[in-house]
Amino acid sequence: MPLPTSDCRRLSPSRSVTGFSLSPGFPSARYHRSTVKRVLVTGGAGFISSNVIRHLLANTGHAVISLDSLTYAGNLENLADVMSHERLSFVHGDIRDAALMAELVADVDVIVNAAAESHVEKSIEEGASEFVTTNVEGTQILLDAIRRSPVERFILISSSEVYGTAETDPMDERHPLEPRSPYAATKAGGDRLAYSYFVTYDLPIVIVRPFNNYGPRQHPEKVVPRFITQALSGQPLTIHGDGHASRDWLYVDDHAEAIEALIDAPIETLAGEVVNVATGVDISVADIADLVLAAVGDTASTKVHVPERLGQVDRHIGSTDKMAALTGWRAQTTFVDGLEQTVAWYRENEAWWRSILGHSQNVSSS
Ligand code: NAD
Repeated sequence: MPLPTSDCRRLSPSRSVTGFSLSPGFPSARYHRSTVKRVLVTGGAGFISSNVIRHLLANTGHAVISLDSLTYAGNLENLADVMSHERLSFVHGDIRDAALMAELVADVDVIVNAAAESHVEKSIEEGASEFVTTNVEGTQILLDAIRRSPVERFILISSSEVYGTAETDPMDERHPLEPRSPYAATKAGGDRLAYSYFVTYDLPIVIVRPFNNYGPRQHPEKVVPRFITQALSGQPLTIHGDGHASRDWLYVDDHAEAIEALIDAPIETLAGEVVNVATGVDISVADIADLVLAAVGDTASTKVHVPERLGQVDRHIGSTDKMAALTGWRAQTTFVDGLEQTVAWYRENEAWWRSILGHSQNVSSS
């Protein structure tokens, strides 16, 4: 959905960024049991954040400001069905814009910083510059903004990629950090920078390390939607190397529930903590390809092997114990069930992914 280049920061007709307030009569009785918060979600037009926002609007009384600079990965269509929601505002802006961040941060209780350059292969093939400025410097700008305007909590969406290949089964939060791609290294930079602001300035920082997400609205550059869209198109599924690399696959709705739990849990127990958001089960990419072919069903697709990805991580399997102990959250969706829902969404939203593929030169990664 194209935006004009000027005067497009504020898309919600009912609210400005400053003076942001909950609407009259709000919250409804349904939400009395939990505290209502004003939540800034960055990267709000991307895959995970748009699903998190939809979940928060449907399941909590929180008011949400979605902030996104709308890179190639940001898509306002991802929020189209909730854009007019009375508790949602959208701001077209960049987390590297210190003045804008200062303005926004002053009006919220919670920040969920998920804005990022998120594509491993892009960081390898096109260079890490944007990854450094958004994933590290953007995080630093937000952290400095909350030094001046304290918030109740700052949730940084880091990544399991910071660990590198599994040295233990499962990988808990004390696993060594051995990032293997420029993307992963910039996520580790933002992750450790956030931790340093907890230690140095006693800021209420919570660091989340999600494992591989999949689900509706994921850019087809990532492996599960790439396989699904290839299968739906009758094209071969492209597998890097022999496909033995395995990941811990997390359905995005489960991730959204985890973020809700992290917003609601007492900050005294969470500040300064790192938590995995994982399932505790790993499945190889080769097996994922077979599961996608089975889920899509009537397809002429086969599998082809392409050269192994540089900086490949062999195995990821996350420990789920700390997140369960701190918040009670555990993933509920099996991979087969999540994949079925994901395939159904891509089947029903062909125009969404065909439009992205039409604009995309380089669709090949995991
Ligand atoms: P995504 O690429 O779908 O979305 C990222 C969003 O951030 C896009 O909408 C983009 O426009 C926006 N953005 C990029 N640079 C920005 C900037 N400078 N200012 C404001 N907005 C900007 O990514 P995703 O898969 O939804 O991932 C979200 C977060 O979760 C990222 O931090 C990513 O590193 C992390 N993560 C993702 C996964 C996964 O499997 N997808 C796993 C672990 C962690």
